[in-house]
Amino acid sequence: HVFYQPQVSINRGQLVQAEALVRWRHPERGWVPPSAFIPFAEQTGRIRSLTDWLLNQVAEQVAAWRASGHPLTVSINVAIHDLEDPDFPRRVAAALRRHDAQAIDLCLEITEGGLMADPEQARTTLDTLHEAGHRLAIDDFGTGYCSLAYLPRLQVATLKLDRSFTQGLASNSATTAIVRSVIGLGHELGIRITAEGVETPEQQLWLTEAGCDRLQGYLFSRPLPP
Ligand code: C2E
Ligand code: CA
Ligand code: CA
Repeated sequence: HVFYQPQVSINRGQLVQAEALVRWRHPERGWVPPSAFIPFAEQTGRIRSLTDWLLNQVAEQVAAWRASGHPLTVSINVAIHDLEDPDFPRRVAAALRRHDAQAIDLCLEITEGGLMADPEQARTTLDTLHEAGHRLAIDDFGTGYCSLAYLPRLQVATLKLDRSFTQGLASNSATTAIVRSVIGLGHELGIRITAEGVETPEQQLWLTEAGCDRLQGYLFSRPLPP
């Protein structure tokens, strides 16, 4: 199943985007979280068919939302394996075509690990996806080893600040310094900042005052069926 978690803008709290998160309903074990099966799918190469299934589900859903007069950009998580696949942009395009969905309605989230595994191939893939009209985001930003020198060269619309930063805001002055710096850096480069894992009104207030652009977390909504 695909669940969708809203992202809200800091201005008026309106829904501006959503993240697609996969769930597996097992007949005996109930709802199995992605952390319990994505790593195995990655190790065994099955992640390719999972990503293709997800692309089709999301393409169908964004086309339906647009047709109903409520277009919404949805981001999907791209595995390292996908980013290394030169055929990935064609797989994305095929899913969109099948469901008559628009490129602008699909954002692709890449982790720093994915970027650094094969930087040359990753850049080629990302450039192709950007040219096709997709938005790109770097996920879990600040937890990996992405060289800052990469940022201006990638056509990234959004940095998603890892939830460990959001959750460290109250207790840790180094964290607040890092978060302020990331927001400043992003804005200097014309990149939007989305904070993940926002759970309390205090975090919302702090991030809003610090100039963060978008917020995602249980405070607003858990991931939900369409
Ligand atoms: P992620 O991309 O960082 O996704 C955000 C995770 O944080 C989701 O967990 C979401 O439910 C959780 N979350 C959202 N708001 C809050 C909050 O306020 N507090 C806390 N504590 N958690 C929050 P989920 O759905 O269990 O997904 C875990 C990870 O599994 C994702 O991390 C992503 O890396 C991966 N994943 C999920 N779906 C897919 C998929 O379709 N394909 C791939 N390749 N990976 C996926
Ligand atoms: Ca993500
Ligand atoms: Ca994340």
